[in-house]
Amino acid sequence: MFGTGKGGQEVLGKCPKCGADVVKGKFGAYCTGKCGMNVGKALGVTLSDSQVKSLLGGKKILVKGLKGKKGSYDAYLIPDNIEEFFYTKDGKKIKGFQYKFKTEYPTRKKKRG
Ligand SMILES: [Zn+2]
Repeated sequence: MFGTGKGGQEVLGKCPKCGADVVKGKFGAYCTGKCGMNVGKALGVTLSDSQVKSLLGGKKILVKGLKGKKGSYDAYLIPDNIEEFFYTKDGKKIKGFQYKFKTEYPTRKKKRG
């Protein structure tokens, strides 16, 4: 079981980048170490608490509604590594970190025979 953080927030797991607690905040999951790791989203999709917990535990998650060239799709995302990314906020270039995923596509169960 996970305990609670200093502020009484629910701890979802440990940050894969800096090892600090990841807690549930008003705007989603975030790293209390403020290392810039984006733990609350995967490929632009906001994750549920249980998905964040699974990712922090190194487990694959099924994410629905990912945006592709041909529309939205579902896929399993497996945390593989961490990569740097840059985004612009208020005209400033900010460096962040995000998961690098391996992707698996759900296969429809086939009956043998
Ligand atoms: Zn962190």
